[in-house]
Amino acid sequence: MNPLAPGSTIGILGGGQLGRMLALAAARLGFDVVVLEREADSPAGRVAVKLIVGDYTDEAALAELAAATGLVTYEFENVPADSVAWLAERGIEVAPGARALAVAQDRFEEKSFLNAHGAPTVAFAPAGTPEEAVQAAASVGVPALMKTRREGYDGKGQRWVEHAADAAAEFAALGGAPVILEAAADFVRELSVIAARGRDGATSVYPLAENHHENGVLRRSIAPARASQAIVDQAERIAARVLAGLDYVGVIGIELFEMADGRLLVNEIAPRVHNTGHWTQDGCEVDQFEQHIRAVAGWPLGPTHAIAQVEMLNLLGDEADGWAKYAAEPETRIHLYGKRGARPGRKMGHINRVKPL
Ligand code: AMP
Repeated sequence: MNPLAPGSTIGILGGGQLGRMLALAAARLGFDVVVLEREADSPAGRVAVKLIVGDYTDEAALAELAAATGLVTYEFENVPADSVAWLAERGIEVAPGARALAVAQDRFEEKSFLNAHGAPTVAFAPAGTPEEAVQAAASVGVPALMKTRREGYDGKGQRWVEHAADAAAEFAALGGAPVILEAAADFVRELSVIAARGRDGATSVYPLAENHHENGVLRRSIAPARASQAIVDQAERIAARVLAGLDYVGVIGIELFEMADGRLLVNEIAPRVHNTGHWTQDGCEVDQFEQHIRAVAGWPLGPTHAIAQVEMLNLLGDEADGWAKYAAEPETRIHLYGKRGARPGRKMGHINRVKPL
């Protein structure tokens, strides 16, 4: 594909904050953005030149998108595979591609892919029945974490299993959907690496972020994380293997566990821009959003080294009401998502507190 020229239109599936920040980055490079989203009022819809309101499987909505653009990307990994196939059949380029989605949408496929490509994970086993769940818990060892194979996020769809025999009841409690059981990762901290791959196969990797969660939701990232060269090398190796293995185009987020023995294990991959990469907006010359747009548009990737030390804090629920306080802090950059309705725990924005390196 030739580089997409400024003035062209890029489609985004999904209208949340990631879509909004992608749209803003695309606009800066001279592109127009069309968003397809279920909700009539959405963070990305507010900054797009056109909003198509519809379900991601709605053929009329997809046809409207296809009429507007030849290049579509997405801001969330649960885009239905059939929708991507529908667009591809009509000659619409979707990036990252169907393979990345298929792998990222199913935790068993994901971990199998990772291990097959030399990216280590905790031990895991799939289960489709209560009996299999008990066997799987026994095989990975307890305590084990049971996760639904599909559609879990922010710690939802997960239950700890303390005794293998309890796995049958926990399986039922998760609704009887296919699950995997994972060995407990006794990690010393959680890290992530944001990486990108262009259409020419060139790759780039941002410095590591150290991430802190509360109630399964990201609260805070610190980047660049203090890390030994050995840790950085492992993360870059993992990123290179994942990007090449998926023949990937775009930005990817890879969540990692740092183990006491110095190994990195992959927790999960997100085939999109990632909350733990928001620090790049104020810590790098080219942030993850612009990098993603560059990659899918066939432009050269930008530099990824840090130019500042950043603490990123998510603003959850009514915390975003503190904008005036944050605006008065000279070291603080504010990013608000334009969401109406600050339900408790909802990601309303984030701040980046910036210090010189
Ligand atoms: P996930 O939805 O897979 O990203 O998991 C959400 C959070 O649960 C992670 O960020 C970890 O804090 C924790 N977690 C996930 N998997 C494991 C595991 N196998 N062992 C220990 N903690 C885990």
